[in-house]
Amino acid sequence: MINAYAAFEAKGPLKPYQYDPGELGAFDIEIDVDHCGICHSDVSMLDNDWGRAQYPMVAGHEIIGRVSKVGSHVSHLAIGDVVGLGWHSGYCESCRMCMGGDHNLCSTAKGTIVGRHGGFADKVRAQAISAVKIPAGVNPATAGPLLCGGITVYNPLVQFNISPQSKVAVIGVGGLGHMAVMFLKAWGCEVTAFSSDPSKTDELKSMGAHHVLNSKDANALKKAAGSFDLILSTVNVKLDWNAYIATLAPKGRLHFLGAVLEPLDIGVFGLMGQQRTISSSPVGSPRVIADMLKFAALHNIQPVVETYSFEQINEAVEKVRNGSPRFRVVLSR
Ligand code: NAP
Ligand code: ZN
Repeated sequence: MINAYAAFEAKGPLKPYQYDPGELGAFDIEIDVDHCGICHSDVSMLDNDWGRAQYPMVAGHEIIGRVSKVGSHVSHLAIGDVVGLGWHSGYCESCRMCMGGDHNLCSTAKGTIVGRHGGFADKVRAQAISAVKIPAGVNPATAGPLLCGGITVYNPLVQFNISPQSKVAVIGVGGLGHMAVMFLKAWGCEVTAFSSDPSKTDELKSMGAHHVLNSKDANALKKAAGSFDLILSTVNVKLDWNAYIATLAPKGRLHFLGAVLEPLDIGVFGLMGQQRTISSSPVGSPRVIADMLKFAALHNIQPVVETYSFEQINEAVEKVRNGSPRFRVVLSR
């Protein structure tokens, strides 16, 4: 049996919950969970903000642990390996996207916490291909957030060939945003952090932001007109998108990573005249996750975390729900 913490209704408390994962599939592994980050997507799923929740729900998809069982057809992982598991825990492996290495775009990819149980537990199961070995130089105690938040902000740098000469802005500096600032600094870019919380300014500068602006200050946005080659939006709220588009350089891109529920109200002329682009992407493929972990080891990038025990899970989830972590909450045992 797997000992987990489940929600039984939207916004309800998490309570101890046991389930039987059944026989281990030939291509699957079981992981003993040591650490699990709490992403805002966990809260959105637990609270049924996206209308996709099924209860009882075991959330948790920024998992670090040790492989404790391997299926008979698994050859690249062995018992005892320290691995990470993120938003996806399986892919079809035969569609055009999987065959091209874009597993995260597989239309039947399995979400770790969507219709199956995730890492707020002592163990979790996954298809072996979706777990990535944690390389030397990456601290397992703080690495969990890299498996979802980290890959989500790193992947666009690879997908769009962002050069070190680029000027890049990040809107919203919580879990995803603070990792974006650190990755962009190490990538060599000129980094602007847009935050609604001025008390974060010194910390953001110490993480590598060259400039820190207020995300709700219309004047600051006006002054930045025509500046950025790329903007990564990590907020889940509606902002004045047309004002942000005006801060893009010609051929610049506004890339949505945060799950804003309100439809975008964007004027085409703000895009057309300067060939600007809007886009979005989900997490990243196992290969890009492995590369991202190597990059984090090389540049000593560690998420800034507040650590809670698994027994403190309700307090920890509440902290993420009310938006106050500096900068990511991680459960550890
Ligand atoms: P988070 O830690 O809560 O950070 C979100 C940040 O947005 C906050 O720290 C805050 O930054 C800013 N913000 C929140 N409310 C705001 C408001 N009313 N006005 C202005 N700014 C506000 O969340 P997260 O874990 O980083 O996740 C961010 C979003 O990304 C969520 O929607 C999540 O579901 C989504 N997500 C998407 C993917 C993907 O694959 N695309 C992967 C993971 C997560 P400041 O204090 O700096 O203003
Ligand atoms: Zn996530």
